[in-house]
Amino acid sequence: MKRDTIIIGAGVVGLMCAYSLHKAGRKVTIIDEGDITNSTSFGNAGLLSAFDKGSLSYPGVITNTMKQMIKGESPVKVHPKLDPKLFKWLFKFATSANETRFKRTIMLFEKYGEETLGLYEKMQKKENLDFDYHRTGMLSVFTEDATYEKKLKECESKEAKNYKILSKEETKEYLPCGNEKIKGSILFNRNAHFDPQKVMLQTKEFLQKEGVEFILNEKITDIKFENKKVKSVSSATNTYKAENFILSTGYQTLLADIRKKSLMMTPAKGYSITFSMPNELKPKTSTLFSDLFIVMTPRRHSVRLTSKLELGSTDTNIVKAQIESIKSNFEKYTVPFEMKEIKEWTGFRPLTPNDMPLLGRDEEYKNLVYAMGLGWLGMTFAPSVGKIVKKMITKDLDNKDSDDILLFSGLYQ
Ligand SMILES: Cc1cc2nc3c(=O)[nH]c(=O)nc-3n(C[C@H](O)[C@H](O)[C@H](O)COP(=O)(O)OP(=O)(O)OC[C@H]3O[C@@H](n4cnc5c(N)ncnc54)[C@H](O)[C@@H]3O)c2cc1C
Repeated sequence: MKRDTIIIGAGVVGLMCAYSLHKAGRKVTIIDEGDITNSTSFGNAGLLSAFDKGSLSYPGVITNTMKQMIKGESPVKVHPKLDPKLFKWLFKFATSANETRFKRTIMLFEKYGEETLGLYEKMQKKENLDFDYHRTGMLSVFTEDATYEKKLKECESKEAKNYKILSKEETKEYLPCGNEKIKGSILFNRNAHFDPQKVMLQTKEFLQKEGVEFILNEKITDIKFENKKVKSVSSATNTYKAENFILSTGYQTLLADIRKKSLMMTPAKGYSITFSMPNELKPKTSTLFSDLFIVMTPRRHSVRLTSKLELGSTDTNIVKAQIESIKSNFEKYTVPFEMKEIKEWTGFRPLTPNDMPLLGRDEEYKNLVYAMGLGWLGMTFAPSVGKIVKKMITKDLDNKDSDDILLFSGLYQ
């Protein structure tokens, strides 16, 4: 049996590609090695922060990280590893962290940010889904005078309606658990947040009801090529043929490696701690502790903290010392309270060195489309990626015919 479109990887990117293609009338099959509750898309912060947060590769990132390392507050850890791919990635990251590139990235985030939030909103309304979605802005909290002053200066060039500067006292209204050491904050109005778990489970359930085929707990380990096309993909037990194949395997590159496609992407390990806390201390909206790279997102019955960016590690275990370090950095700037029903999690961001996702057709095997490398913004941009991929497949576009690929894909940058 030959299928129409097979998507390998049921993280948020795979699911949003499936949603867009299904809505366009295509027959979609999704294959995943897990049951979708194991992916990075499940345990992340759920911040939809396309606006005013900046990019990861910003001018000054290297110096700032060094300063944080000296203070013992750095979220970044590079594991010593003699991997030429990692060194190439680090070099490209360092050279991408310049003013021109930064401005371009911010403009692209704004362009696709407005679209992607619109798509989430429309999807929830149309399909009657509940993602615990709130477009209530993102509170950027500062614990250092210098970075707060710098950000305030940057705000002078922004449209006043997009942000609100909050004093120490006003910050407490949004972040009642913050303590006296917080210098102040800025509420960036355009951002949103949701519960990633709800997004994943509800989207999967909706797609299943609509007849999208899910093949779960089956790892794809091989690809066969014939006449300049991918002919089939195989697991240990089955072979699947299709017209189109989409690779949305997150940070995992096994299949791209078999294709001998070197993707400029590295796994960046991060952690989350989900817990319940007194309601009166819960933040009113998603909160970024800017100087600590810690995000705190409220959800209906809990709160989630996320942090850390470890390069050079593919260890899937939760390292206790990292959890403790997140907690101790967080506790320096919050009033004492008890975290209850704690759940710890770790996952890997599929990180590119210039914040651009890896999107587009394989140049030799044209029925193979890459939808990867969404890094630290995969939840944010997944609906836009789904739309771009749908357009490529339904209109049979080549990379050069897609403005989105030329603008937003890291394959050509
Ligand atoms: C700590 C942390 C916090 C984050 N916070 C945010 C945030 O606030 N906002 C935001 O926008 N983003 C955030 N991110 C990033 C976001 O989670 C990722 O960008 C996103 O989840 C990537 O989605 P994906 O679908 O590409 O990959 P994944 O979610 O990893 O899904 C890939 C899927 O492919 C499957 N797979 C892989 N290989 C195979 C194979 N060979 N055969 C079959 N199946 C396979 C896997 O099982 C997996 O289910 C965060 C990430 C981390 C780690």
